[in-house]
Amino acid sequence: MTGPLLKVTDLVKQFPIKGGWLGREVERVHAVDGVSFELEAGQTLGLVGESGCGKSTTGRCILRLIEPTAGEVVFDGTSVTGADRAGLRALARQMQIVFQDPYASLDPRMTVGEIVGEALTIHRLAPDARAWRDRIVELLEIVGLSADHLGRFPHEFSGGQRQRIGIARALAVEPRLLVCDEAVSALDVSIQAQVVNLLEDLQDRFGLAYIFIAHDLSVVEHISDRVAVMYLGRIVEIAPARELYARPRHPYTEALLSAVPIPDPQVKRERLPLAGDVPSPIHPPTGCHFHTRCPIANAGDCRHRRPELREVAPGHRVACHLRS
Ligand code: SF4
Repeated sequence: MTGPLLKVTDLVKQFPIKGGWLGREVERVHAVDGVSFELEAGQTLGLVGESGCGKSTTGRCILRLIEPTAGEVVFDGTSVTGADRAGLRALARQMQIVFQDPYASLDPRMTVGEIVGEALTIHRLAPDARAWRDRIVELLEIVGLSADHLGRFPHEFSGGQRQRIGIARALAVEPRLLVCDEAVSALDVSIQAQVVNLLEDLQDRFGLAYIFIAHDLSVVEHISDRVAVMYLGRIVEIAPARELYARPRHPYTEALLSAVPIPDPQVKRERLPLAGDVPSPIHPPTGCHFHTRCPIANAGDCRHRRPELREVAPGHRVACHLRS
């Protein structure tokens, strides 16, 4: 393979809002507004932003769980956005998703064996019942569970164990990319760390690439090779993880980072509170979407001209008129 494993170009997703007695479209939610990035095989991109910034919608559009309005997604040289049903089915073996809420994403009437084995059946990956069972046991052991769990139901497990079941289910088809959509956000901090460690081990073992979606910068810090920060449907900053945490350039990233606690009491970081709420994605602000909350916004370009992502250091791109 040459080039990136995943290439996302100018991805757009708008959700129509219908109204009136004819049910005509009256407004649009601008959920994803021209997102572009690349991801190499075996690497992790952290995708971070406040609730409603479009990060989960971006993840789902990449897998075409929801249809993008515009833009292109290419996986290993194959167009995802241009794929037909058969093509999408083939791509589904390579790209999987782990959801935030394992309670909602695991069918409570199915046993763990049935949940993990479903994809083996759909994609005809086990020649007989014995091979099917052996593979399920292998997958459970890979994620730290065991054959004893095969016949049990989701409600018999803790949140962290349920998330392990979700990961085993995703791994069944031997994907190369996992979209982890707030996969640890609902878990306690200590359990979060265990699941993140598991994902890191799996990456080393199977060469998986991750898009790791979270609303909290502290969660993605250790797992990410690069981090993209989203605000109202746009990436406002993307950089190698270390560089982003050490030298954030966008005022929004600075504000998010200032809220992350630092374990070392010697290190002080000035808190930069964000004023106001995130504006509505139905009528996002003109120019730079962040100008209504930005502490250094001006009345000229910031209000009227969209800032493009510009490279300010190797691999570090920022969408801000005043930061370079
Ligand atoms: Fe703030 Fe202007 Fe930069 Fe936007 S472009 S982040 S409003 S300074």
